Amino acid sequence: MTNPHTAEEPTRIRALLVEDNESDAALVLASLRGTRLDVEHTRVWSRAGLSEALGHGPWDVVLCDHSMPQFDGLSALYVVRSYDADLPFIIVSGAIGEETAVAAMRNGAQDFVMKQNLRRLGAVVVREMEEARMRRSARVASRSLQAKEALLDSIVNTAADGIAVVTIGGIIEFANPALCRMIGWEAEELYGLPIEQLLQANTSASAYWESLFCSSDSDDNTPASLQTHLRGREGKLTPVEIHAGRTLLNGSRRATVVVRDISERLNSQEQMWRLAHFDDLSGLPNRLLFRQLLEQALIDAGRSRKPLALLLIDLDRFKLINDTLGHDAGDEVLREVTARLRQCLGETDIISRFGGDEFAAMIRDIGDVDAARTAATRVLAAVDKPYRINGDEYHLSASIGISTFPGDSADATALLRNAELAMYRAKDQGKNNFQFHSPQMNARSFEYVVLERFLRRAIEQDEFLIHYQPQVEVGSGRLTGAEALLRWNHPGMGMMQPDKFIPLAEETGLIVPIGRIVMMRACIAARRWQDFGLAGFRVAVNLSPRQFVQSELVADVRHILEDTGLSPESLELEITESMVMENPDRAAAILHELRAVGVKLAIDDFGTGYSSLGYLKRFPVDTIKIDRSFIKDVPADADDVAITHAVIAMGRSLRLSTVAEGVETAAQAEFLATHGCDLMQGYLISRPLPLDDMDTFLSQKCGLVIPKVKVSHA
Ligand code: C2E
Ligand code: CA
Ligand code: CA
Repeated sequence: MTNPHTAEEPTRIRALLVEDNESDAALVLASLRGTRLDVEHTRVWSRAGLSEALGHGPWDVVLCDHSMPQFDGLSALYVVRSYDADLPFIIVSGAIGEETAVAAMRNGAQDFVMKQNLRRLGAVVVREMEEARMRRSARVASRSLQAKEALLDSIVNTAADGIAVVTIGGIIEFANPALCRMIGWEAEELYGLPIEQLLQANTSASAYWESLFCSSDSDDNTPASLQTHLRGREGKLTPVEIHAGRTLLNGSRRATVVVRDISERLNSQEQMWRLAHFDDLSGLPNRLLFRQLLEQALIDAGRSRKPLALLLIDLDRFKLINDTLGHDAGDEVLREVTARLRQCLGETDIISRFGGDEFAAMIRDIGDVDAARTAATRVLAAVDKPYRINGDEYHLSASIGISTFPGDSADATALLRNAELAMYRAKDQGKNNFQFHSPQMNARSFEYVVLERFLRRAIEQDEFLIHYQPQVEVGSGRLTGAEALLRWNHPGMGMMQPDKFIPLAEETGLIVPIGRIVMMRACIAARRWQDFGLAGFRVAVNLSPRQFVQSELVADVRHILEDTGLSPESLELEITESMVMENPDRAAAILHELRAVGVKLAIDDFGTGYSSLGYLKRFPVDTIKIDRSFIKDVPADADDVAITHAVIAMGRSLRLSTVAEGVETAAQAEFLATHGCDLMQGYLISRPLPLDDMDTFLSQKCGLVIPKVKVSHA
């Protein structure tokens, strides 16, 4: 239907006439004929007829007589209203009492027109049709508004995201249940709080709110979202993503803030990242991540000018294990290799499994390439130890290729390729060895390999000697003991000082059997000097890190004392600060065991390492040896004077005996005497002496008569 007011053409309407009298009906229709209405009609006069006609709607108006033989106006109204709430219902009647008219209007009739006054009818119909149209659209509008509100309510209440409405300025006016849940607060507690208070403060958060609240609408450049943390009750932090926008609410500006918990997303992102960057079996970074880390490390190394070494480690004959014992056993071995690599390389070194039986390690900040050599040696030794599988022992070895930065290349790809080439060369050389990419390096390795072979032979051939350096009381010069210092009398190379071969002995583990030899000889010698009259003469033996942590140390010491008959307090073991500090708990346990045996314990080279006073109290030590480097410039250098003085004073207060090393001048000795240092050793008293010369020294100093030793090296 079109609007009757605006239509130029007559408006076609469908009217339903409820009228028993045909001529009355004709009159009604005639009264409408003069208007702009073009009426199509149906006439009914019973309830059934009306119901049926209503079913053939839509109708624009119902014109209803009030009294009919089988029917009346009020009943008709009821039937119409149950069909349509807005259809205009106009009573057209000859005789209607005022009461009936009021009742009809109350029940929803729109108007009544007397049959005597039908001229009015056209205008009434037009008006009522317009009103009905407005009622209808209002009803639709209100229905849709209610629906919208209900919909919004349910969205806001059931949303998984937190939603808040805040003032421009950030004060919370509304918080939905999800937000309350995320924070662990009731909605009422949140109202009135600044939203920023619920979030972890950081600069990007402040900038976000600032641009949300302060920028003008025209240049709103608020970022699309903000990632931060929601602070819940008891400080629990939830990672969230925030989307906020400004809205007009009842005429005033507000911002709606949507807070999304992204912990799961981050978790799964992290999981995906882990999957893509780590090897499942070993838990080590995979080739991809290793490469990225290598690239980064090369940039850092370039800046800090510190060299870096790349080791490519390939297991030899691993396929054999896989083929004969199965893949589970193979996996087990790879995990064991991983654990050993982790253990034998430093914490800052990065290890990776490239796949299969191929591993890589990146060693940063190497002081010099010898560190790479040391690392490779350690890896070979670690892989070399037997593997227990199903109760049986198996052996593996590795071939290692090494490339270095800046020596070989500054580029990750080239370094990896160089290391690989070197690794194949190691395989060609008979496996179980390492090769540097650069030939000069290999030449030096070769020396090491030769030296190691020599060192092994030295143990078999007994090429070691011990020199003894006397220790005396500072004031009186009374002789109290000697430090045993190792020498290697190599048939071709002559007498070798310990710093030339001890590092290699340490690397290869040969220091353990060598150390045993030293201790044995030193105890025999001390016992012998005691037997010749030097009661309480003490011998000090140096322990290397490897010796210190090897599990048989305490048993070895006990056996050597038993075998030589030396009383435990006549043996002093020297260890360094760094050995203790590397693993203080383990060191404390070892030291307590040694203490239980009864031997004396000394901290060697004191002052060069951590020099933490705290640990001296914690560890059962008897002696501190002040390092030669401090004594050297005493009494000229004020700093060294201060340090030496402090160490002596501290030793006293802890009831430790202090020994000064490297005393070469009378001035140094005098200084030590004034400050109360207990013992000293150094060239001023004597250089380290071979056994024979030591005998002579003791005879002269203490008037002993010592027969010449027969055995050449004893
Ligand atoms: P250290 O324990 O600090 O030994 C003292 C070193 O200072 C010895 O060097 C000794 O010859 C030297 N020295 C002694 N008095 C003076 C002096 O007045 N002036 C100067 N300039 N030097 C003096 P050496 O014998 O070459 O030993 C070097 C290091 O080798 C020792 O340092 C010790 O750490 C290690 N070492 C020696 N023997 C053994 C051993 O049997 N086992 C282990 N694990 N390490 C040993
Ligand atoms: Ca020493
Ligand atoms: Ca020392």
